[in-house]
Amino acid sequence: MTDAATPKKRAKPKAKVQKVPTEAQAPARQVIGKDCVVAFHYSLCEVNAAGELSGWLEKSASRDPLLYLHGHANVIAGLEEALEGKTEGDKISITLGPEQAYGPRRPNSVQRIPIKHLHLRPDQKQLKAGEIVAIQTHNGIRNALVVKAGRFNVDVDTNHPYAGRTLHYEIEIVGVRPATPEEIEHRHAHGHGGHHH
Ligand code: ZN
Repeated sequence: MTDAATPKKRAKPKAKVQKVPTEAQAPARQVIGKDCVVAFHYSLCEVNAAGELSGWLEKSASRDPLLYLHGHANVIAGLEEALEGKTEGDKISITLGPEQAYGPRRPNSVQRIPIKHLHLRPDQKQLKAGEIVAIQTHNGIRNALVVKAGRFNVDVDTNHPYAGRTLHYEIEIVGVRPATPEEIEHRHAHGHGGHHH
């Protein structure tokens, strides 16, 4: 049942010159699987016990998309699982409990650390409780929450700041490509938004 009043999209008039894809016989869009490099934008908020969403905690839209190598646990487990099989242009909304995200909060994980061992940003002169600082560990740099700051030492909670939280992600996949042999060897993505050496 169509007539002129239906708000249906009209077929565009045929262009005189047929549009040729830049790559003739371009292959079907790459689907996300092991050893793909995925570029995506994300927004992240927390879901409280009542199921209400917080304001956005993080948003990548104003920055470059994030790049990661799929299949190597470079993003949290729940996200990697949700992205499997998706392709460029796909959008995903997903809510992940702590076990699929950053794990439960471990009690007794407060440590006293000399301030000189922290990787402070230039704007982090006077540390206060509640701030996130970067600490050097045997497994590289990780973030920790300051629970108490002294003159020479800080007490930090080494739980991930999102440990124990239920998180909601809005994801938009903006690119998928096969990884290079070097990226697979390094187990991370290279280039803008990925790792730089
Ligand atoms: Zn590398």
